[in-house]
Amino acid sequence: MSRLAIVTGGNRGIGLEVCRQLAMKDVQVILTCRNPEKGEEATEKLNAAGHAAVFHPLDVDDPESIKALFEHVEEKFGWLNILVNNAGIMLDPRETNGGAASSSLTASVETISNTFRTNTLGALQMCQLAIPLMKRAGFGRIVNVSSGMGQLSDMGGGYAAYRISKTALNAVTRIFAEENQGTNVLVNSVCPGWVRTDMGGPGAQRTVDQGAETITWAATLPDDGPTGGFFRDKKRIDW
Ligand code: NAP
Repeated sequence: MSRLAIVTGGNRGIGLEVCRQLAMKDVQVILTCRNPEKGEEATEKLNAAGHAAVFHPLDVDDPESIKALFEHVEEKFGWLNILVNNAGIMLDPRETNGGAASSSLTASVETISNTFRTNTLGALQMCQLAIPLMKRAGFGRIVNVSSGMGQLSDMGGGYAAYRISKTALNAVTRIFAEENQGTNVLVNSVCPGWVRTDMGGPGAQRTVDQGAETITWAATLPDDGPTGGFFRDKKRIDW
């Protein structure tokens, strides 16, 4: 039986490409996103290319929406193999009037808390509901799409909300990986690199397929694959 995956933020950017790459590997994909029209459109394109994908609405900033998705998965399938926590936002102002990146001195608590709800708490709740279904299936792979901007060992200034949310997402990876040792549920963080998407902008170095490659790799690791790691280009990087 083919693997079953949920991808968050699957309507565009890296998430859409992860859906395509997983489908290419014979994974059944539940493409989720918050705008149903865009989700249906993206799913139809995958189907037209011969890929097994279905759409389900999901706003990771809404615990009820997360609950509704998992009620649907429980009822329709009763199990799950792969979760890619890809949905993410960067709300920090890109530049101040002086042209420098947003300063932490002026970062608003509202921006930090909104970013945290989507990038960190949404992913955490997804893990909480996905893991029991993965254990039932005897196979689970969770990929938290993080960023070098959340890497403590290479922490720069500015973009406080985004950086903090991704550092905390890495903590979510470590905690769930640790608690699920020996269960064949492997939990890892991946930095896709700087990718040409709406978030990455046109000046980014990588294409979406390059950005999605390591995420897809971590989502389809063999049973003896790593857990609790942080990866870029399929190589372990420092936290
Ligand atoms: P993107 O093009 O801006 O796409 C972001 C995706 O997240 C969209 O599908 C968006 O949906 C979705 N999303 C945002 N808030 C959501 C919510 N509350 N519920 C459900 N979906 C939500 O960004 P991207 O570049 O593909 O980024 C994907 C991931 O890679 C993010 O986690 C990002 O932090 C990470 N990343 C990106 C880069 C880069 O250079 N691009 C580098 C490092 C890490 P809507 O269409 O509804 O807004």
